[in-house]
Amino acid sequence: MKKPKVSVVSYREPYQTLKEALDLCGGLKNLSKEDNILIKPNLVAWDFDLPFPPYGVVTTSAVMFNLVKILVENGFTRLTIGEGPLTLAKPVGQAIFKVLGYEKLREKYGVDLVDFNEDKFVEVDYGEMKLSIARRALEADKIINVPVLKTHNQCKVSLGIKNLKGCLNKKSKMQCHGRDLDLNCTFPLVSAKLPVALTVIDGVFTLEKGPSNTGKAFRKNLIIASTDMLACDIVGTEIMDYRPADIEHLKFFAMKTGRSLDLKDIEVVGENIDKHRQYVDFDWEWTPEDTGPVGFAKRGITGLAIRKYDSSLCTGCSAQYNPMLILMMSAFRGEPFPGVEILSGKRQAASPGFEKTVLFGKCACELNKDNPNIKKAIRVKGCPPKQEDFINALKEEGIECSMEAYTAYRHYLFNRYKAEDGFDMGLFGEQEI
Ligand code: SF4
Repeated sequence: MKKPKVSVVSYREPYQTLKEALDLCGGLKNLSKEDNILIKPNLVAWDFDLPFPPYGVVTTSAVMFNLVKILVENGFTRLTIGEGPLTLAKPVGQAIFKVLGYEKLREKYGVDLVDFNEDKFVEVDYGEMKLSIARRALEADKIINVPVLKTHNQCKVSLGIKNLKGCLNKKSKMQCHGRDLDLNCTFPLVSAKLPVALTVIDGVFTLEKGPSNTGKAFRKNLIIASTDMLACDIVGTEIMDYRPADIEHLKFFAMKTGRSLDLKDIEVVGENIDKHRQYVDFDWEWTPEDTGPVGFAKRGITGLAIRKYDSSLCTGCSAQYNPMLILMMSAFRGEPFPGVEILSGKRQAASPGFEKTVLFGKCACELNKDNPNIKKAIRVKGCPPKQEDFINALKEEGIECSMEAYTAYRHYLFNRYKAEDGFDMGLFGEQEI
């Protein structure tokens, strides 16, 4: 059997690099000029209020603009860019497209820009479960998947297969993080029904402890491309120095499609991947007693047990989890906390022996509503919970969190990236094409 081809190209400037990556893997060979093509970047979230370093978190505009340019030059003109970003009060996709300069792609090339959250979803029956997928993704003739080369604290890596979870509606995304489901056996189902013709992994940056801006980005300067999504993910995984057989969602996808996860079954063209293989850590270290991040213990924080997030915590709560940690850290004034346990997600049940139990989010509130171990419940009910509700609920119990400390932390996250190290915000706005 012919091996799938994956190209790995060092990023110099975007147009030539992409062209080379696509030429080497025959990236355009499965597209026809009449195709209605959906391009799916990873634009999982943006923050319009506080500084947001997008490095390794969202697909660079440099890659998106030049990909569109190459497609148009080759006669592919029926183009849509679609994404379903994390939505709190209202859909934010169009605002993210604007920040990233995509309106120029609409003006110059007639590219349609679609926030899936504002469009229709169609329920698809996978046997194991039903999931609602963006109509625009199901109706596309071909999909070009443009994920980022990043890690994920629940799935270890987040590449092509994971990126397509963004085609689900909010309810289905939450369903994938079900209490009794294995996350790794849910979202890969989405890829099975979608006509993915090309995957381009944007490795201009890579991200440690992803998938969001609280992880740490590194300049990586690679583009990885293939008409075979699994093969592309395998190569991306190897470059981040993980073995594909240890990545549960890749294993599930390979099992479902009868495929191999062995790098030997792939033809890698371009760069020697061993030259670029470098471990990128995916997870935050917790104390062995599950009382909180190791960093809390190092600071001498006691009287507090923050149970580590599990895979039942969906993206909405995950995005609020790090702010919650920083807020709790800000409430530490050198004295032990008064015996506080913090629970989140759909699986964590209250333990005995605590004075106060914080139920972070609607799911933790519901699961623990009659738990006899709880002396005093502090319910933060939102789905996901809001930061101000968390701060106010704790304040009522005499625990003073500081929003200023959280804001300062966000400035620190942004300011630690320096232009001289290749962290150029210009890669995430309108491009000259
Ligand atoms: S409360 Fe959190 S974990 Fe539960 S469904 Fe809402 S976002 Fe997901």
